[in-house]
Amino acid sequence: MQQTQAAVITAFGEPTEVMDVPLPPMKTGSTLLRVDAATLCGTDIGRWKGALREGGKDQAFLKPLHLPFVPGHEICGTVEEAAGPVRDILGAEVRPGDRVISSYGHCGECYYCRVTRQTSFCAGVISYGHWQPEQLRGGCARHQIVPPSASLIRVPDGISPAVAASGSCALRTVMHAMEQLGAIESHETVLVLGAGPLGLYALAVAADRGAGRKLMIGAPERRLDVARGWGADRLLNLDEEPDAGRRVDWVLAQTGGRGADIVINCASGAAIVEALRMCRPGGRLSQIASSSGAEIGMPGALLFKGVRMSFPVMAEARHFYQAMVFLDLRRNDFPFDTMISSSFSLEETGAALAGMAELREMKPVIFPNAMPGDSVREYGRQTDGDIRPVRR
Ligand SMILES: [Zn+2]
Ligand SMILES: [Zn+2]
Repeated sequence: MQQTQAAVITAFGEPTEVMDVPLPPMKTGSTLLRVDAATLCGTDIGRWKGALREGGKDQAFLKPLHLPFVPGHEICGTVEEAAGPVRDILGAEVRPGDRVISSYGHCGECYYCRVTRQTSFCAGVISYGHWQPEQLRGGCARHQIVPPSASLIRVPDGISPAVAASGSCALRTVMHAMEQLGAIESHETVLVLGAGPLGLYALAVAADRGAGRKLMIGAPERRLDVARGWGADRLLNLDEEPDAGRRVDWVLAQTGGRGADIVINCASGAAIVEALRMCRPGGRLSQIASSSGAEIGMPGALLFKGVRMSFPVMAEARHFYQAMVFLDLRRNDFPFDTMISSSFSLEETGAALAGMAELREMKPVIFPNAMPGDSVREYGRQTDGDIRPVRR
């Protein structure tokens, strides 16, 4: 095989173009994956629209975005070739045919890699979904190359490629957030802001870790339906309560007038002000949602609430591993596939991005290797919950 194909963003906000891409020579220790599924998230939309230019002095670990690039950083693939012996995160040799996700690569030699062990902040971090086509570092392509410094994590049998792909972003970030938050006690009320994939996974993991009560504020109703099935005790539909002050009152009414013990903000960067109001004095707040651009203003008095805040950025290899274990062991508690909204072929990547941008999609999945004649419109839902294109 000399070449593969990728959906390429050549102009911000425009449909993607499928292009032939030569397969680059494989560096020792790298792995060639056939992409089984690539799911999209808000980060892809920000990059597609050109709103998420990234980087700068404050964030050397984020590289500026240049056209053209291949979107997609939530990827599940099957190993086609391993250049030299390649081992997974548990030390077992990886062979062609193994289904895997990959953490991000990093330099392994800097202050963040060696001293603080926060590899997300390594200036050499290799995240996916914003590289030139010939690098093959985006999920919206038939193939992806995993660099030697990334960790490979096996996808458990029975976890569909689409769900595994979604776990490689939203769920691993939630695992990072939970590590920073620390233990959740059984008397504590956890409030999740935002009912997208991040919020839903945060709800599931908070429930699993023993939260006493789980509140969620989000929209639209279809997402709240999923949240109901995943254990939310009380839900407030954002579309029905556009007034932020009344939303805060709703939370206070649910929590004896104190506010939630733990608030996990998956809604937006700007919602941090509302999140702080909804958190009890001395509580904890995880700010997962990030929005680039606008400054965020808040009354200084909110800083005198003693709220312990944490800001997970991407995730470390162990969080990717934790995400796959959670999907494997909790699949009977949470019907993860209800989060996947629609499926698309590689040629339809632009339509998937547009559907996501217009909030018609919760978690669209692209099957880059769907064959002519496969229907990507319908899921083949097997009894084990597997989601894949239907072969006609
Ligand atoms: Zn993502
Ligand atoms: Zn480094």
